[in-house]
Amino acid sequence: MAGSLMTSHSDSRKRRAEIAHRVASPKQDFFEKCTVMGCGRPTRRAAGTGLNGNFCTYHGQRKARFGSPVAPAIRATELSPYVKTALAWIRQHRADPILSLVLLSLRGLLDGAGPVDPVMNLKRRSAKYRAKVAFARLREAGVKPERLLAIHLGVAALVEDDADSHRICEFRIVQTAKAMHRLASGTHRRWDFPLPNGTIAPAEMHVYPKSSGRVLRVMGEAAEEICDLITSRERDTIRRLKREKHGPHPSQVPGWQPAWRRKLAAARGL
Ligand SMILES: [Zn+2]
Repeated sequence: MAGSLMTSHSDSRKRRAEIAHRVASPKQDFFEKCTVMGCGRPTRRAAGTGLNGNFCTYHGQRKARFGSPVAPAIRATELSPYVKTALAWIRQHRADPILSLVLLSLRGLLDGAGPVDPVMNLKRRSAKYRAKVAFARLREAGVKPERLLAIHLGVAALVEDDADSHRICEFRIVQTAKAMHRLASGTHRRWDFPLPNGTIAPAEMHVYPKSSGRVLRVMGEAAEEICDLITSRERDTIRRLKREKHGPHPSQVPGWQPAWRRKLAAARGL
């Protein structure tokens, strides 16, 4: 690694050449077609447009942004009863020493994140640096450690409950970070919109800046490292409490059909 600072320019040129070489390589180390069932598009590697030997352009980008090539992103409304349940559980278990340790570590993560760097300064910074700024932004927005843990618990419980979801660590990590990121960033406006019939309708606008998949992964991993002490132990408790208070997840109600079957039925016009 010595001298790596001096040679960064020729390094990046070398890396570009190496990537171009690998894209054009005749080695049969890739799938011809995207591995998502029913997709059928060529992988980027097979099309000669990139290195991804598992997915087409669309599913590759989707995986980068959402943590899964297929699972739908978790919606705020869907997550909300889980986070509420987790917050109530946290409040009732203040005396738990492991819980105290986790909350203290999350406080350290927020306080140690340094100053908030304005968005304009972030373009060329590393994912690690941008993840730190994202935590600093959460701290400045007054987000408490309890809420971060509640999101981690809530996403884990929801992913486990939702039969349509993708139960892989990466999806959970990215979705957790996305939900945390949502707490601090964005423009939210609300105003009253007068209708022609004389009544007033409330109008809302929510704009979130896009967060890159890499930043979300770093954020999510930092949270995972701390929160998993509690989440691995209490996830099923949160699932049970949420079910008792807010009812079962739609995918656990009799007669529910998985997404692929609903899509198939729609395509056949049933
Ligand atoms: Zn595909």
